[in-house]
Amino acid sequence: MISEKMLALGKKSSAIREIFEYGKKRKAEIGEENVFDFSLGNPSVCPPPVVNETIKKLVEEENPVLLHGYTSAPGDMETRKAIAAYLAATYGTDDTAENIYMTVGAAASLTVTLNAIVCEGDEVIVLAPYFPEYRVFAENAGAKLVEVPCREGDFQVDVEKLALAVNEHTKAVIINSPNNPTGVVFSEESIKALATLLSAKEKEYNHPIYIISDEPYRELVYGGVKVPYTANYYGNTISCYSFSKSLSLPGERIGYICVSKKCEDWRELFFAVCGAGRALGFVCAPSLMQKIVPACIGKTSDTSIYDTNRKLLYRELTAYGYECVNPDGAFYMFVKAFCEDAGEFCEAAKKHELLLVPSDSFGVTGYVRISYCVTTEQIERALPAFRALAKDYGKI
Ligand code: PLP
Repeated sequence: MISEKMLALGKKSSAIREIFEYGKKRKAEIGEENVFDFSLGNPSVCPPPVVNETIKKLVEEENPVLLHGYTSAPGDMETRKAIAAYLAATYGTDDTAENIYMTVGAAASLTVTLNAIVCEGDEVIVLAPYFPEYRVFAENAGAKLVEVPCREGDFQVDVEKLALAVNEHTKAVIINSPNNPTGVVFSEESIKALATLLSAKEKEYNHPIYIISDEPYRELVYGGVKVPYTANYYGNTISCYSFSKSLSLPGERIGYICVSKKCEDWRELFFAVCGAGRALGFVCAPSLMQKIVPACIGKTSDTSIYDTNRKLLYRELTAYGYECVNPDGAFYMFVKAFCEDAGEFCEAAKKHELLLVPSDSFGVTGYVRISYCVTTEQIERALPAFRALAKDYGKI
């Protein structure tokens, strides 16, 4: 007898992975250059040079036994100090090494955080559309996942709908800005309204309601847009960060949790994070990757390429009759399907060798996600296919 729950999770891969696997097969059949794969959020831009330079320096100059040895369970002290100093300098926070916990990326940051706070009977709210793994992480931590749709049209937080969903069982609201899959950056107005609502609900129910702020795309913004730092607007905020996207290091698995010192009983909460990390086996994140952080924090890969892709895609797709919010951040575009069934639309797109992700797995219907973290050349080559798809539906 094995765990039915885990068996089911392992057998069914995510919709995104399924399309990606289909793409690999199709590329082998008709050639890589003839398949326009927009399925995965795998950065297409090299890490900034400082990453490799720091790795080289560490490998050449440091004692290898220490360099590759265990760090303490919550992470290397110098790394945690560097992160706290960066957050303090950038956002004016009072973070120190004591409230930073190193993880293997945002996925681990989220699952450790959820396990640290969820008790029996708790609910965790997500704002739809949302990163599909939130359901897996929240349910596995024992919470009931509650979906609240974002505002139709601009995908900002719908505070009125959220107010109806928060109740005495609500333990946390997960937010993600810049957002996967919409590319939307939640405005200061949205974050302030969210903070006001949750503060009132905390008083009403007499217990903390956490904001879990999932921030792997924090630095990926365009046109001078500012991302409000959630912990500066709301006390009970736990920030889940990852270097996967900012430094183009998704395979290296490195990130952190910052338990804001404004959280109620933050020291106890931080202990619970340490406990969850221990229980899940997420202790001592990869040592070499932790040790590059002090030299690399605040740097990003060349995001101008994503910006070029964003502008090109938006300009051309809207000219062909596609509708979408012009994204301010991350590297995704969330486009309205030309028919109600996004799955059916993606099948129609496949006939033009266009691989898009239907929105159903993000908790909304009728849209597709385009990951534009590809080469600009791929987008240029794919434009006739987008055009032909629009033609199929009589848009041009
Ligand atoms: N959260 C969001 C919104 C994401 O898009 C991703 C990855 O694509 C993750 C979390 C997981 O990131 P990581 O690779 O750092 O675990």
